[in-house]
Amino acid sequence: MKYISTRGNAPAKTFTEILLGGLAPDGGLYLPETYPQVTRAELDAWRNLSYADLAFAVLSKFATDIPAADLRAIISKTYTAEVYNKGRADSDFEQITPLRTLEKGVHILELSNGPTLAFKDMAMQLLGNLFEYALAKQHDELNILGATSGDTGSAAEYAMRGKRGIRVFMLSPNGKMSAFQRAQMYSLQDENIFNIAINGMFDDAQDMVKAVSNDHAYKAAHKIGTVNSINWGRVSAQIVYYFKGYFAATQSNDEQVAFSVPSGNFGNICAGHIARMMGLPIGQLILATNENDVLDEFFSTGLYKPRATDHTYQTSSPSMDISKASNFERFVFDLVGRDGAKVREFWSKVDAGGSFDIKGSDYWHALQKFHFSSGKSSHFDRLKTIRGVFEEYGVMVDPHTADGIKVGMEQRRPNLPLICLETALPAKFEETMIEALSRKPERPAALEGIEALPQKCVVMDADVVKLKTYLTSHLPR
Ligand SMILES: *Cc1c(COP(=O)(O)O)cnc(C)c1O
Repeated sequence: MKYISTRGNAPAKTFTEILLGGLAPDGGLYLPETYPQVTRAELDAWRNLSYADLAFAVLSKFATDIPAADLRAIISKTYTAEVYNKGRADSDFEQITPLRTLEKGVHILELSNGPTLAFKDMAMQLLGNLFEYALAKQHDELNILGATSGDTGSAAEYAMRGKRGIRVFMLSPNGKMSAFQRAQMYSLQDENIFNIAINGMFDDAQDMVKAVSNDHAYKAAHKIGTVNSINWGRVSAQIVYYFKGYFAATQSNDEQVAFSVPSGNFGNICAGHIARMMGLPIGQLILATNENDVLDEFFSTGLYKPRATDHTYQTSSPSMDISKASNFERFVFDLVGRDGAKVREFWSKVDAGGSFDIKGSDYWHALQKFHFSSGKSSHFDRLKTIRGVFEEYGVMVDPHTADGIKVGMEQRRPNLPLICLETALPAKFEETMIEALSRKPERPAALEGIEALPQKCVVMDADVVKLKTYLTSHLPR
């Protein structure tokens, strides 16, 4: 299996070659040359596999340059009930991603039982083990530099902690995260984890990371890398739970289902799109946004118009507060019949701050064949859904999952079982849960009292020179 760039101007690479990198040299994103197909016989054989065995079956179609025994070992140590047992006490952790049925034909797929209580752990834990494996083979090291406003940074730290050959330097806005989020990240005492709280906003931290990344000589000399959502390893790991959820919600492989996906950077739902392209019987992919509705606008009108950061709202489902969707280009590549020149044309507009519109073109008709629906949810909808689900089913859902449920219920086609992806647990978003339910969310026992643990974090001004000095002094010579 080789990987090609969505912009059509980069050499084809293997899974391992793109694992540690980011964008393709032509500025595009990597995708498989062709999607591996899953036969009906394979689907039948996969129906009753454990999560780890299923992950091996799926991922061995993508990571073809990793010896099967090695890949199996990496996956077996990743997808265990010991790693994914942090969620609700009544969950069946052996399933890794248990399906919770709210009523006949309406389900929640629990993806947030990992160490940081968000679905990012599903892919990031695998990435940590893949990185360690690849680096050991190449006798190399990697220093991950990132900025986070919450979920991604903590998932990366929990995935990379204690891993040989890897250090994580994670910038976060000083005093802007919740006490729980701070405790989750800063209480890690591992020697390879460095928390840096920046006196400024998330954007300031992000700009510092960009400044270091754009200094190509420095980046190469100090082996600096990232783990952002465009990483193909992350997308491929997310394909697995669409299969798992499908099998759990159906009796036979003749049935179709709908997935509803709370979306931001289009990474999660992109994995659903790929699962469908591989042959999983997904009848409908429902994309839910919050008030930041660039993606809903595209799927309902054909216009893709990313917003400036000053037009990105801060909402109560903060992990979906994006102005442009970094993985969206992958889907558009498929939509335009894998025409790299067309993608280059569209993104020359997007990268210049503009937009593109497919309404009325052949692409608009092509779009209908991909079975997407979309909708948006507001703060009011979110609170109402959290309340409604709690009153009717006795289940607390977090604000992001609530956005997915709201839009899923509105957009689902009758007779299709609906699987709503649970992207985080309510414990991460106490304030909004209290606003909705006038009570604190349940907190998993393992995380009780983490705010009281000792914390390891340095505070720094938003100054790139200071950051570089800090990095250099914490790397081996
Ligand atoms: C990251 C995240 C999302 C958005 O996922 P994308 O892959 O960026 O579309 C939704 N909900 C939660 C809780 C997240 O952490």
